[in-house]
Amino acid sequence: MDIKEAMELTKNTEICRNCKNIVIGKGNEHAKILFVGEAPGANEDEQGIPFVGAAGKNLDKLLANVGLSLNDIYVANILKCRPPENRNPSDDEIRAHTPWLIEQIKAMQPKVVCSLGNYSTKFFLSLGDVDKMKEQPGITQVHGKVQNIEIFGTKVKLIPLFHPAAIIYNRKLIGDWEKDMEIVKKECAL
Ligand code: URA
Repeated sequence: MDIKEAMELTKNTEICRNCKNIVIGKGNEHAKILFVGEAPGANEDEQGIPFVGAAGKNLDKLLANVGLSLNDIYVANILKCRPPENRNPSDDEIRAHTPWLIEQIKAMQPKVVCSLGNYSTKFFLSLGDVDKMKEQPGITQVHGKVQNIEIFGTKVKLIPLFHPAAIIYNRKLIGDWEKDMEIVKKECAL
């Protein structure tokens, strides 16, 4: 599949017909680190940019705390369009939207992929096989653990991180996030 076909597949989904903007990514496309979240929310849908709402503001702060900025990473999502009422992504939506993400990964060739939260982590741990996502361990078990994976032909180090939205509600996770980011920085020699 090429990028055009991947984009068409995304656009065929109902969430794509009903959203205001398709949210592709932001940050440095030449960075060594790719962060992958779940799906755009209301603010992201409005602006067409990922992580601009409360989770995004927290992500900016968390990055600054470890001496990084958007210039050091690129950020994308599993879904390119907002699911209504921010409901969880369906299996079919993940199947239709992730070929675009895979094309982004092929083009970017990141050294490290940081999956943010459960959906993204389970997608990568199942190597993109949506039927196997439910069998994968949750973020609490695997955050900060480096896994060498090959996803649709691209070899990366996967380092799952707690989702910045979860950290807003559970401030105790900040310490874990900072320790996990030290591992990310070490892997990228940053
Ligand atoms: N949460 C996500 O996972 N992605 C966004 O773009 C915004 C919030």
